[in-house]
Amino acid sequence: MKKSLIVWLVLCALSSWLHAAQPNIVIIFADDLGYGDLGCYGSPTIRTPHLDRMAAEGLRFTDFYSAAEVCSPSRAALLTGRYPIRSGMCGNRRVLFPNSKGGLPPKEVTIAEALRETGYATAHIGKWHLGIHAGSRPVDQGFQRSFGLPYSNDMDARAGLPKGATGSPNPAHDGWNVPLIREGKVIEQPANQTTLTKRYTEEAVTFIREQKDKPFFLYFAHTFPHVPMFASPAFQGKSRAGIYGDAVEELDWSVGQVLDTLRREGLAERTLVVFTSDNGPWLIMGDQGGSAGLLRDGKGSTWEGGMRVPGIAWMPGRIQPSVTNEVFSTMDLFTTALALGGASLPKDVTLDGRDLAPLLFESKSLPQGPYFYYRGDQLFACRLGEWKAHFQTQTGYGQPKADAHDPPLLFHLGRDPSEKRNVAAEHADVLAKIQQAVKAHQAGVVPGEPQLQ
Ligand code: MG
Repeated sequence: MKKSLIVWLVLCALSSWLHAAQPNIVIIFADDLGYGDLGCYGSPTIRTPHLDRMAAEGLRFTDFYSAAEVCSPSRAALLTGRYPIRSGMCGNRRVLFPNSKGGLPPKEVTIAEALRETGYATAHIGKWHLGIHAGSRPVDQGFQRSFGLPYSNDMDARAGLPKGATGSPNPAHDGWNVPLIREGKVIEQPANQTTLTKRYTEEAVTFIREQKDKPFFLYFAHTFPHVPMFASPAFQGKSRAGIYGDAVEELDWSVGQVLDTLRREGLAERTLVVFTSDNGPWLIMGDQGGSAGLLRDGKGSTWEGGMRVPGIAWMPGRIQPSVTNEVFSTMDLFTTALALGGASLPKDVTLDGRDLAPLLFESKSLPQGPYFYYRGDQLFACRLGEWKAHFQTQTGYGQPKADAHDPPLLFHLGRDPSEKRNVAAEHADVLAKIQQAVKAHQAGVVPGEPQLQ
């Protein structure tokens, strides 16, 4: 009797220690938000007080990258910690469409799957865009709960929608037939997009409150500011930057709601929150295309504006307020999340991310390796330290064929963040080093079966 009581007490202590040791993890992912679209990244016209406060209290990255220039590959890389070429989640169709047969392969290990193994509650809220067929859906990829859209909000346009409606300032709110889905079941079609951000946020707040006594992983992938642009009545017409600014300001409000909930519930000190975007701004959408600030080009391209995005990490008391210029990417979040959650890394899988814990919690520099920029399944560019070489270039949209460069173009991103002055002729030694890094990387890449055909 006594013995079993002791065992029980030890088990209780162990379980509460485990929960204390396993921080909650929240990833907030904007869609097509540009490098220059937040106050804390220099936007003069869009007000983002909650994200600005998050940045002031946490760690703001100046050189944070999404792992792809468009949506589906970028999401696959975030959730698996691998360049999309390895999972096959990239290709000439660029993203998944409602009639695509492929999706994130079931054998890929996602953050949600790994953390669930160690006792985390897992939820996906918002856009998915990693496949609609069995094996690839949120419920098949480790998420116990899921509420959101299966793909982009401009897909599945309804018959009779006028040409150009996607980027128009006042599109019909039921112009797209995209469904709102809860745990695999359609609950509304077409989804009323004007209240999506609000409803996603309510869902997130409820989930956090319900999980107070258990570690949780929340993947909160917003639908906006992807076109067609909508905002709730409370935000419509309020920003200086038109409906795009309204949508971003509502997104900022949403981040504020999530952080306030964590503070109120006493969870802030044991919850890592990361905010970032899936790719750069969709510049061809004009007023509704956002801004990459001083970076060149936007969504769809491997120029900096296509892949360098806002990145903020927040965990009061654990992460000291600061700014880092080191190069990191969404793929690092996979490795970091698994390490924090006490999950073992998947076996026989090549991972491309690193554990950011020393940087986040001890302000230590991490060794900086090369970073590779893919467009579809093609390696277009490589960054090593402050240097970036382009082997091919192509604007995000509107340029049918890439320009090949031999010798490659070379830019110094410290002195020339806008990639205006090609200095390849003066730095043959740098180019040789980068070419060596590319060769070593490519020798280790086994492309996954293409999913985006
Ligand atoms: Mg996107």
